Amino acid sequence: MNHLITRNNQLFFIFLLPMLLHMSSVVSLADTDFQRWLQAFSKTAQRQGISAQTWDNAFIMVKRLDGRVLEKANYQPEFKTKIWDYLDARVNEIAVLQGQRMSVKYAPTLETIEKRFGVSKNIILAIWSMESAYGAVLKNTKRLHYVPLALATLAYGDKKRKKFAETQLIASLKILQSGDIERENMLGSWAGAMGHTQFIPTSYLLYGIDFDNDGRRDIWRSVPDALATAANLLHKNGWQQGKTWGYEVNLPAGGEQYGGMTKTLAEWQKLGFHRVQAEHFPRKTDRAECALLAGAEGPAYLMLRNFFVLKKYNNANAYALAVGLLADRFAGYVGPKHAWPRPPGALSGDEKFTLQRLLKKHGFYHGEIDGNLGSKSRAAVRQFQVASGLEADGVPDKSILTLLRKM
Ligand code: CA
Repeated sequence: MNHLITRNNQLFFIFLLPMLLHMSSVVSLADTDFQRWLQAFSKTAQRQGISAQTWDNAFIMVKRLDGRVLEKANYQPEFKTKIWDYLDARVNEIAVLQGQRMSVKYAPTLETIEKRFGVSKNIILAIWSMESAYGAVLKNTKRLHYVPLALATLAYGDKKRKKFAETQLIASLKILQSGDIERENMLGSWAGAMGHTQFIPTSYLLYGIDFDNDGRRDIWRSVPDALATAANLLHKNGWQQGKTWGYEVNLPAGGEQYGGMTKTLAEWQKLGFHRVQAEHFPRKTDRAECALLAGAEGPAYLMLRNFFVLKKYNNANAYALAVGLLADRFAGYVGPKHAWPRPPGALSGDEKFTLQRLLKKHGFYHGEIDGNLGSKSRAAVRQFQVASGLEADGVPDKSILTLLRKM
């Protein structure tokens, strides 16, 4: 025993103590370096109209960078999300039911927003669902970040996002300076997206609306402000009132050659493209782009102007399609009619929920039941496979579901 203690002491002095000292010196060096960066950047901020008072208020409490921001910025997903998986996690019964509830709760607000900005309430609800699950993500404050610090951390420590982060940092300080939000409530994602409708600071400055007339553009706590701000972004980017975002169509033989092309709906019709939900296109002179988001085997769409306006919110086809499909669900449509080309054995959207429920019931899964089979769900599948003596590849497919159902 004594021998061990001596040995441990020796180890401590020879290896551990220098290591600890080294670690602490590394941490404090990084902190000093970050402080130095902040000091230098405060001059840039001042040149762009940020007062010394605003700067001090924003950073007086800040002692070190936000390490979680750099972790999230450097996160590399272990698998690439397919479009049907992306849609399953966002366009599902839970999102639809909650949206219908919110549609009732905020009926007068949504109606006034629709009148003032010309954007349908279904689109606004769909964006709210996509961006913050109707505000649910804002309640988990532990996962949020103090926005000026998150952006300063990115500007200091993430070479790829330096320019973006510097611009957003200045904008975030302008928001603080305007008094729209107090420092302690200026929370957002690691990349600076804020409030119910996840606006980055520059977009907030461009489109922020004080819709409840209390003198603040408060997208963090005022649902009317947040939803009107989203509607204003779409409106200012050319949203066409009373029109939809696109149509699912039957792809005629050889139709895949037209992927990515733009023509009028009349021309598309001549080429054999027809709506799957109705007989005719209502406005045949409107132009539309043929979108085959999963190749010729998946659903085919003719995307109208409003689809591309949705991409101004988030420049991804999958995002804009999810908003459109969710809005359609609120309006009573169910789509798409054609199935996505899921690989053999892949789970449907509903089956993903069932899989998570069963994994949870049997103690393999402790996360949320959200139909989103991310790294936690895959780790749970792996555990289940290990416990069942199977090859532990973590792939959540029909064979796993069948086995879980038998338990
Ligand atoms: Ca307000």
